[in-house]
Amino acid sequence: MEDQLKLIVKWNGAEYELDELLLNDNVETLKNSICKKTGVRPERQKLLNVKFKGKMPPDECEISELKLKPGFKILMMGSLEAAIADANTIPDDLPSVINDFDIEEGEEVPIENKEVYLAKIQKRVSDYEVKILNPSRPGMKLLVLDIDYTLFDHKSAAETGYELMRPFLHEFLKSAYRHYDIVIWSATSMKWIEEKMKLLGVSNHCDYKIAFYLDYLAMISVHTPKYGVIQVKPLGVIWGKFPMYTPDNTIMFDDIRRNFLMNPQNGLRIRAFRQAHTHRQTDRELLKLAKYLDSIANLDSLSSLDHRNWERYLRSWRKEKMKRRGDSGEGSSFQGSSP
Ligand SMILES: [Mg+2]
Repeated sequence: MEDQLKLIVKWNGAEYELDELLLNDNVETLKNSICKKTGVRPERQKLLNVKFKGKMPPDECEISELKLKPGFKILMMGSLEAAIADANTIPDDLPSVINDFDIEEGEEVPIENKEVYLAKIQKRVSDYEVKILNPSRPGMKLLVLDIDYTLFDHKSAAETGYELMRPFLHEFLKSAYRHYDIVIWSATSMKWIEEKMKLLGVSNHCDYKIAFYLDYLAMISVHTPKYGVIQVKPLGVIWGKFPMYTPDNTIMFDDIRRNFLMNPQNGLRIRAFRQAHTHRQTDRELLKLAKYLDSIANLDSLSSLDHRNWERYLRSWRKEKMKRRGDSGEGSSFQGSSP
């Protein structure tokens, strides 16, 4: 039929064809049709790249008005009722990594110097194209950030992406930006990364700038005897492409330790941010990590640090700072008790 429109919806890593839609159907019908395919209820669907006059289209808006081309891929965010019910009943004392397996704390997986992986990294260095968003700044260190569960809870249901943002994200990025160039590296496609960063208001923030994004194509697969083939994020790709960044001045945050298997010393495993609705009030991880980044920013090299002990390091740095303040008598918070 002439007025039929085939669309595709991409959700949770899979694609679903919507083949029953007519151009004069409205957005409500579109959402119902997505629900039929994915099970995500219309009110839980967030259609990231479907806009009407720059905003989310109202339910009564006709599909023809959205000017979608046949075969257009709609990026959808939203959770299943079952998943939401599950999330609400998961006890708090479960380990933070539930879906993604991880390597064990302190486990050495000696693959760093294997020729074949170095060759793979070299191939990424020469073939992977990085779109520079903002130029590197001389003298800055480098902070590489994962997205899902690091900056954003991508599984919980919400009306807006903003609700799923980890608390203090912008404050954290603003603070880090004073000493670090910032790179976002997520094991998903560039399209998703761009949409998410837009959604969170990171891509055009006035207080900080992101140097560039890396997606799953910059990752490599490695074989480990214990875990089989796994995907990792080798910082060597960045170091090879951008010589100003080195093992000495780079730090990477990810909620999954295996992602920094190729460069364990540079990785800091951040606590995963899940169940945003429950944890939004209490999660202070990014505030604390902003302080940690501060505390190490003036070191000539980060390579002697063990980021597994970042909280301990931060505590003694604070103590030291207080002591120095006390010694010099300046900036003391106990002025009232001075003689
Ligand atoms: Mg993650």
